[in-house]
Amino acid sequence: MTFASLGLIEPLLRSLDGLDYQTPTPVQAQAIPAVLKGRDLMAAAQTGTGKTAGFALPLLQRLTMEGPQVASNSVRALVLVPTRELAEQVQQSFQAYGQHLPLRSYAVYGGVSINPQMMKLRKGLDVLVATPGRLLDLYRQNAVKFAQLQCLVLDEADRMLDLGFARELDELFAALPKKRQTLLFSATFSEAIRALAREMLRDPLSIEVSPRNAAAKSVKQWLIPVDKKRKAELFLHLYRSKRWSQVLVFVKTRKGVDELEGELQRHGISADAIHGDKPQPTRLRALQRFKQGEVQVLVATDVAARGLDIDDLPLVVNFDLPIVAEDYVHRIGRTGRAGASGQAVSLVCADEVQHLAAIEALIQQVLQRIDEPDFIPDHRVPQTQAGGQVLKKPKKPKQKPLPAAGKGKVHLGSWFEEDDTPKAKAVRKVPSFAGKPARGGRKP
Ligand code: AMP
Repeated sequence: MTFASLGLIEPLLRSLDGLDYQTPTPVQAQAIPAVLKGRDLMAAAQTGTGKTAGFALPLLQRLTMEGPQVASNSVRALVLVPTRELAEQVQQSFQAYGQHLPLRSYAVYGGVSINPQMMKLRKGLDVLVATPGRLLDLYRQNAVKFAQLQCLVLDEADRMLDLGFARELDELFAALPKKRQTLLFSATFSEAIRALAREMLRDPLSIEVSPRNAAAKSVKQWLIPVDKKRKAELFLHLYRSKRWSQVLVFVKTRKGVDELEGELQRHGISADAIHGDKPQPTRLRALQRFKQGEVQVLVATDVAARGLDIDDLPLVVNFDLPIVAEDYVHRIGRTGRAGASGQAVSLVCADEVQHLAAIEALIQQVLQRIDEPDFIPDHRVPQTQAGGQVLKKPKKPKQKPLPAAGKGKVHLGSWFEEDDTPKAKAVRKVPSFAGKPARGGRKP
């Protein structure tokens, strides 16, 4: 199959030729003809499947072939995305694919000055890529009008709900013309996403390019059990002994990101970090340096790394397991792209066993455990099994004499010290779409 056979026009084919895209990916093969015909779309496709070109190419074609010239402060296609990084990346894709077309595209997001964005909108834009919060600010200030809107794309819709954008989305949707084409892309399909789809889409074509929630098959995944306090030491040991080249490392918290970055730098490893507390230019610069190979280790939180497009990344390390199981799938999607093989290793401590069980239930496989001889944990990570259960260990005979009644705590010889008992349950906090949104998690 070729891009020409999907009905794309010559200026787009020329761009694809220049980018050396030879064959459409499965999501492109299904999405492009349907979007060209004007159909709504509900696609289960994650980053790395070529989904961006799947919607950008036919939209650029439709915007070229039909509809009026864009009026001032108006937009003709709106792409909503969860993060600034993804906004930049999607906008760059539109620009690359549309380089031979007379269309204007631009990305707006928070964390940077709003004034240049207002200026840019004055002439009108054929394609606006936006995060919901900043778009709503612009709308409230009359900097953007939707009367000319032909098409709406919700990219990574699950993530937008996870980040607590439901209220902004509600308000924006109310302002959009009812007659329009709508495309919804999501890596996962919770009930909240299905409710969103029912409300937003008209007779959509459903596309599912990989089994839902299944992690990329070309990625070799395993875990190393380790005590929490020795994770940084283990990472350094692995980095050196395995002679890792470029590594993307995921850490749960911003503080944890900074600590690991500092630790690596103290050991002479060129490391940089991205998280929600860093200003946007700093994040983009770190990403650029990593992409160009100036930095060996990029330490990131999930949200900051969302939408990172790094080709042929050989290795992803989960320094901490994500609390939201779906994030595991997103993380390891950074490697093993486009048929290349990749590796994803997780450093797992006893505290994280519930997260591990949730991830294994989601990806429908039990991760292989490979012990690192000098790092066998004192607090063993309980065994898990398919289906997400944590196996309870039969009670050991008591090793120590019981203290006298009423004095001190009874030591039951369990796998955990008291403080290591897993507390957090790996549940996904998706706000009901039309309900009260959770705004807490905007800047992990
Ligand atoms: P996406 O899933 O949209 O984030 O795309 C993942 C990566 O695949 C990006 O680097 C794209 O430039 C690349 N890509 C998308 N479609 C194709 C294609 N048909 N042939 C080769 N590379 C592609």
